[in-house]
Amino acid sequence: MTTIRQEDLIQSIADGFQYISYFHPQDYIQALAAAYEAEESPAAKDAMAQILVNSKMCAEGHRPICQDTGMAVVFLKVGMDVRWEADMSVQEMVDEGVRRAYMHPDNVLRASIVSPPIGARKNTRDNTPAVVHMELVPGDEVQVQLVAKGFGSENKSKFTILNPSDNLVDWVLRTVPQMGAGWCPPGMLGIGIGGSAEKAMLLAKESLMEHIDIHELKARGPSSPGEELRLELFEKVNALGIGAQGLGGLTTVLDVKVKEYPTHASSLPIALIPNCAATRHLDFTIDGSGPADLAPPSPEDWPAVIWEAGPDARHVNLDMVTREVIEQWRPGDRLLLSGKLLTGRDAAHKRLVDMLSAGASLPEGVDFTNRFIYYVGPVDPVRDEIVGPAGPTTATRMDKFTEQMLAETGLIGMVGKAERGPTAIDAIRKHRAVYLMAVGGAAYLVTKAIKGSRMVAFEDLGMEAIREFDVKDMPVTVAVDSHGEAVHKTGPEEWRARIGKIQFDL
Ligand code: SF4
Repeated sequence: MTTIRQEDLIQSIADGFQYISYFHPQDYIQALAAAYEAEESPAAKDAMAQILVNSKMCAEGHRPICQDTGMAVVFLKVGMDVRWEADMSVQEMVDEGVRRAYMHPDNVLRASIVSPPIGARKNTRDNTPAVVHMELVPGDEVQVQLVAKGFGSENKSKFTILNPSDNLVDWVLRTVPQMGAGWCPPGMLGIGIGGSAEKAMLLAKESLMEHIDIHELKARGPSSPGEELRLELFEKVNALGIGAQGLGGLTTVLDVKVKEYPTHASSLPIALIPNCAATRHLDFTIDGSGPADLAPPSPEDWPAVIWEAGPDARHVNLDMVTREVIEQWRPGDRLLLSGKLLTGRDAAHKRLVDMLSAGASLPEGVDFTNRFIYYVGPVDPVRDEIVGPAGPTTATRMDKFTEQMLAETGLIGMVGKAERGPTAIDAIRKHRAVYLMAVGGAAYLVTKAIKGSRMVAFEDLGMEAIREFDVKDMPVTVAVDSHGEAVHKTGPEEWRARIGKIQFDL
């Protein structure tokens, strides 16, 4: 019988979430470095370089890999011979660990959890509660798996129930392109097969915590239908040509994981959950001897990749930019933005369009005439930072506001992550605006370009408030030009044709 003290679990959870906020798993770094070396698409290679350089900067600076520091998901396997010395429930202990981690003064993380999920949706301010899954197993220790799941990828999760005779591979190959690039590839796909509806989802999530080993599997050859499926999906999903950040390229996934469970004779439940460039998970064991000991990785574990904007990148002064200037930009052009950039995301957009619809004036200081807006919810700053990691958020969530914002505010450009949907592209074409993308999963790197930040409006929205950033050489790519041409359409089409393995009409 082992005694597990309350404080040991709490501190281990706190240390673990701090650890994964700035240390990528080494298998992810190695797989991404190999994909970077092999990549032939310049745009995708550039995005991967930013993610790798960002990763090393975060490891050195102990600051988050991404501004979305995730929802805390904790899997516990509790030995049946464990005795607890605790007056809190397991959920309360985990939540206390999450609270300590996310409010750590040296590396404050972003609190992203709102409660209740409908209605007021108030930020709980400490990123609690965590999602806790618990299982009783033989033994006298507690095995812990932590995940800080970013919701750009979680939001792209899919579930279906196929007929037993349906083709699972076809479903995946039809589904992945529909997910767009808001899940920040290159990452992993976790696929849960079988069980019941909720079991399949859980299998998919659990599979994402396995080590990246597809190249070892390739070398030794598959020994089960599940392994054959992994190899087939790995090859075919990459042959879709989606590429890093959806820009078109050779690598979309670094691994495909499959977990199976017996199911009903009439059914084939399938869950698909992607993991993003901010892959964050950790395993450790608590055995009664104190909090888990988490050894830091070595700086040599990161490849010697240097990112620079390159000679073709165009300098843009945001304070002087006009419609005539932006009309010259084409999809794929690389820009370095300098000057003033307003920020705003979901909640701010909702409030702005409600005010516009009611005929009210926008708050003082909120003037979008000939300006750009950056879809971002930054982490709070620590020490001498101007702002914490402030990478782009998924732009499609703002699509429904775009027509009104462009028609009624004088806004001429937007900066965000991944593709735009048809509604937003129509509005961009109609108003001769542009949409630029920054790399998701390279938040700390992007933040180095932010030289000033001031609160402008809606301070009560916390990370969703409207700020004005003063940026210097912020790297972005033209994703939708003023004619409505979109790099997220042309890039993957070009690379799928070049790879030439996916013949059927998706
Ligand atoms: S890498 Fe992309 S999907 Fe992942 S947490 Fe960051 S913004 Fe979200």
